[in-house]
Amino acid sequence: MKLKFIGAIDEVTGSMTLLETTSGKILIDCGLHQGLDFIVKKNLEPLPFEVRDISAVILTHAHLDHSGLIPHLVKLGFRGNIYATKPTLKLAKIIMADSAHIFEKSENHLLKSFYDIEDVIVATSLFKPQTFHVPFSALGMTITLLPAGHILGAASVQIQADQTIIFSGDLGRIEDPLIPAPEKCPKADIVVMESTYGGRIREGNLEIELTQFLKKIKTQSCIGIIASFAVARSQMLITLINQYYKLNPNDKIRLVIDGPMMIEANKVYKEFSQETKLPEILLESLENVEVIDHTREWESIKKQTGPLIVISSSGMVSGGRILRYLENWQNDTKACLFLPGYQAEGTAGKQLSEGNRTIHICDGKEITWSGEVISSQAFSSHADQNGLIDWLSNIDKSTAIYLNHGEKTSKECLVSKLHELGYQNVLIAGSK
Ligand SMILES: [Zn+2]
Repeated sequence: MKLKFIGAIDEVTGSMTLLETTSGKILIDCGLHQGLDFIVKKNLEPLPFEVRDISAVILTHAHLDHSGLIPHLVKLGFRGNIYATKPTLKLAKIIMADSAHIFEKSENHLLKSFYDIEDVIVATSLFKPQTFHVPFSALGMTITLLPAGHILGAASVQIQADQTIIFSGDLGRIEDPLIPAPEKCPKADIVVMESTYGGRIREGNLEIELTQFLKKIKTQSCIGIIASFAVARSQMLITLINQYYKLNPNDKIRLVIDGPMMIEANKVYKEFSQETKLPEILLESLENVEVIDHTREWESIKKQTGPLIVISSSGMVSGGRILRYLENWQNDTKACLFLPGYQAEGTAGKQLSEGNRTIHICDGKEITWSGEVISSQAFSSHADQNGLIDWLSNIDKSTAIYLNHGEKTSKECLVSKLHELGYQNVLIAGSK
């Protein structure tokens, strides 16, 4: 077995690892590089393998930085199987289609025409849905998907051949309100582990911060706008807000959602609600949440006075309907923008979270936000350093552990922590 770390080595996007055995080659994840222009341009570099040599792709979860290069691979001629859990494949279809739509419609996008919806349709024809804990075989290897927490359907991948190797995928937090905790890493010869928060212990409390925001919007009778990722974060927020209103009916105010991708993701979360920790309340929340028909209702919603809470995308304020809401209420000093997600360098969300109030949007327009901005670190769907260490706790201390999917400092911090705990064979992916 040979491993080649291709993407998400010293960064957290563009996940892709090549596993080569005597019977062929497979990819673990095939994700898009996202962020500043120089990172996005990495998607245009030639792939370091012959596409026709790849027999299969195993997708750990649906996020674009893990799935978003699949249609490109298909465009280059890939026709092998794509294995993942059922919810992952359903969510990946939504995410890849949205990405194709952006590449098709944005004139100045660096990835203009990178792939289109036809490539996504071909990709979905290659999907081979799998079930957690039920082994399947590919290239003579036995492969099992194990729950990784993080988002609906997310898996760690166990591959058994002459050696056993585990790919963590993105690991979720033990105490996630919606998604069950990741299953601990089983014994293996080699472990490839993400290290996004390898140097951090989570700060803040998700429930407290959300409650404070909801109370503020109610008591100050203002407009609350939540910038949320359409997949996973939105479904969690809708469920938690609805749960809070059930427990505190006097605090209930109008809650609306606006975003076509969010509505599609809601359907998948409803279909697989039993795989979450709160199946009943999730189902009820997603069934009953008020969805804005943007074309028909925008004229009336934009004249709305508080209290009102809107959940819209994108989560990093880098495009989408959220910009219309911010533009409309930019001069309202009582309006409040809540950012409960990771804000990447170079995004409007990052600028707003750092105190800048003027952001540039498309066509040379700008928005100067006059109201409050609340930025929270508590909502991340990634395990922090303690969670990563806990995930490893059942393996032998001599196991070879490769760290990927993390900034250099996060990986270095996790290496020294694991050394301190007695793990003797921790390596940084790409360094060997
Ligand atoms: Zn992810």
